[in-house]
Parts: sequence; C-alpha cells; structure tokens
Amino acid sequence: LKVLIVGSGAREHALAWKFSTSKRISALYITPGNAGTDELGENLPDVDPADPAAITEAAVNRKVSHVVIGPEVPLAAGVADSLKNAGIAVIGPEKASAQLEASKQFSKNFMLRNKVPTAASVTIDSPKQLAGELAGRSGKVVLKKSGLAAGKGVLESDNTEELQSFGEEVLKEDSLIMEEFLTGFEVSIFALLDGRNYILLPPCADFKKAGIDDSGPNTGGMGAICPVPTVSNGLLARIEKDVVEPTIKGLVKENLMYTGVLYFGLMITESGPKLLEYNVRFGDPEAQVLLPLIESDIGNLIDAMAQGKLEDFPLRISEKSALGVVVASGGYPGPYKKGVRVDNLPKDNGKDCVLFHASTTLSPEGQILTGGGRCFTVVGLGSSPLSARAKAYSVVPEVQFKDSWYRPDIGKKFFTEN
Ligand code: ATP
Repeated sequence: LKVLIVGSGAREHALAWKFSTSKRISALYITPGNAGTDELGENLPDVDPADPAAITEAAVNRKVSHVVIGPEVPLAAGVADSLKNAGIAVIGPEKASAQLEASKQFSKNFMLRNKVPTAASVTIDSPKQLAGELAGRSGKVVLKKSGLAAGKGVLESDNTEELQSFGEEVLKEDSLIMEEFLTGFEVSIFALLDGRNYILLPPCADFKKAGIDDSGPNTGGMGAICPVPTVSNGLLARIEKDVVEPTIKGLVKENLMYTGVLYFGLMITESGPKLLEYNVRFGDPEAQVLLPLIESDIGNLIDAMAQGKLEDFPLRISEKSALGVVVASGGYPGPYKKGVRVDNLPKDNGKDCVLFHASTTLSPEGQILTGGGRCFTVVGLGSSPLSARAKAYSVVPEVQFKDSWYRPDIGKKFFTEN
C-alpha cells in the first residue's frame, strides 16, 4: 500500500508512527506533516490539506493507494469526495456524511430521527427568541454554534447576559442551538467503519480544560487516557445498544454510511448515556493513546476497512493502558508564540513511552521549532493505568522549550491517591 496521511498534528504523527511499523506499506507521505513525521515518511509541506484538488493531484502523482484524513476541515471541504472520484481509497467520509460533525443542527436532527438519546434542545433563530428562551429557563444551559469552531463554539453558563451576548454573536453568522445542561462523566467512543460494518475501539477520556481539576478555559485537549478505568463492560454494552447501534442503522438507512472513523462524545448521566456530538475522525489527543494499543498491522486494518471486510477482521488490542500528556506553548489556549526553539526532547523507546509532535518544523540548521499551541504529546504505556501515568509523567519534564506547560493531573480523577 502507498499511504498518504492528511494533517500536521500529534494525531497524524501517531498515525504515521503506526503505519511505519506496518509490513504492508511501501510508501508513506504526510501532508503537510511535522518534524516528527519527517523521520517516518516524506512530508509534503506545500500541499494545502483543505484543498481537494491539490490533495488529489498530490496523491495521483505519487500513485497513492490509500489516503487517511486526520482533521475535520478537509473532510468538511470534500477532500474524500475528490479522492474517491479519482479512484483512490479513502479513510474518511464524503462531505455529505461529514455534516454529522460540521453541522450540529444536522447531527441533532439525525439523532432525533434515529432515536439516539441526546440532550433536549431547541434551535434559536433570533436574539428575541433567545431572550425568550433564556427567560424561561432555570439554571445552567448550553449554547452551541452549529458549524465547526475548533472547540470554541460552545458556552455552558447560567449567566443570562453572558449567554445572550454569546448567542447574538453566533447568530450574526450561523445557526444557534440551546441545549439542556447534562451532568455526569464524559466518555469518548470510537468506531471503525468499513461502509457496512463497524468495530468499536476501547473507550477513551480526554481532558479538555486548561486548568487543574478540569478548571479554566477549553483547549483542543490537554491529555487522554485509554481504556477508561470507570467504564465497565456493562456500560460499554449499554452505550453500544442505546447509541452506537441506532446510529449505524440510521447511517445505513439514510445513505450516510462511510469508510472511516466515527467518534461518539458521550455524557454518562444518571438516566444512561446521552450523545453530545459526533466527530467523523479520530480525536486529538485520543488517537495518541488509542493507536499505540492497536496490535494488528494497521496496513491490514485499513485495507480491510477500504474493502468492506471489517466483519472478518481479527482486530488485536493490547491489554495495556495508555496515558498521554500534551505539552503546550506558553499562553495557549490564548495567544502564544510560534517558532520557539525546542531545547530538549525525551528519547522515545516505542515500548513504554512514545513522543508525538504537533505542527513542529525544522529550521534550515535542523533545529526543531514549535509551530502551534499544542506542541507534543508524551504517551506512557503500562500494565495498569497507574503505571502508564507514572511513565508519562516521568518523561514529560524532558520536553523542554521556553514557556512550555502541561497539566500535572491528567488521569488523576480516576485514581485515589494517598
Ligand atoms: P470539540 O470541538 O471539543 O469536539 P465541540 O465544540 O464540537 O467540541 P461539543 O462536543 O458539543 O462541541 O461540546 C464541547 C464540550 O462542552 C463537551 O465535551 C462537554 O464538556 C460540554 N457540553 C456540550 N454539551 C453539553 C451539555 N448538553 N451538557 C453539559 N455539557 C455539555
């Protein structure tokens, strides 16, 4: 297989790392890639990942057989449609199915049509309607911008003024959804789809807030753990029956089933699992903890997905646990500097510790420079969640660049420590 990975984050580095271990791969390209993926395959830094024609041309010119699309923006832009028209196998949905993530209005209607349990909601069309709805509520509610917003389109609040002004801003350019505020704990479930069947991967949890004990502003994700110690097999079975199965049936019925990854962002409430959102791709940082636990050859896996043969695929998952800690630029998730020199990185041994880069670049002198807000993910692997966590935190301080920071408590809420 000749594989092209689209994206530049730590998720795409994790994918490239996994593909680099496959016996089936004869060429590996990453567009645009980062300084980490540069060591595993050939980066194509000049191809715009959100330009369907440019990606397709790059893939055709290099006789690529399979393209794996990491981020949501290229999917929503129709990169998969263009590649499929050129006869290339794609891991990632066409534009029509990518609406499940790109439009919250679309996904909410899909959930309702297909009886997938979710938060009660109402679509708001005007500032006046918003004021009326806010006056009629008690306590916290959630407002959501319908379109893609890189994690910045959601406000949970009980402050009427704050909600009204956030909602009015959104209404200037997009639809607005008001949702009941759910309480419980969040779980991320990923399914691999082959256009007909699905396989579930072990449950993950990510840590979205910047501060200790899930305080402070939202980020793209500051860490993740897999599997989740509090998710029992019984709960997993309920999630599958109540949420995954009606979703898959709905996708098939509505002609939206695709080949790729489907994420279920769930709140486990007292009355059972409720779906907050779909994503149509791997999460970042969840991919960094999931991929090291996949023991099957990933070349065989994507080949089976592309051929619609997941049903017979003997997916092997490690019994280990993985915990990832993201190292970010000073100031992130607010304004931050790019191009900061990285002074030291840990040696990743590929066994109990793996290091993934995000958006890093190489200077002409070969020096690694930061290129984004979230710069690295350090993943610890161990026979238990605690040992995975201990490993990750023993290595994280070796990632050194000016003003870097990380959360010291990833996974902590799952353990009682004395
Ligand atoms: P992301 O970009 O991080 O995937 P998003 O911006 O697309 O997220 P959601 O996943 O719908 O939006 O919401 C982001 C976060 O807001 C959720 O992970 C959850 O913590 C919180 N949230 C969303 N909806 C609700 C709700 N109804 N009740 C309580 N919390 C919610």
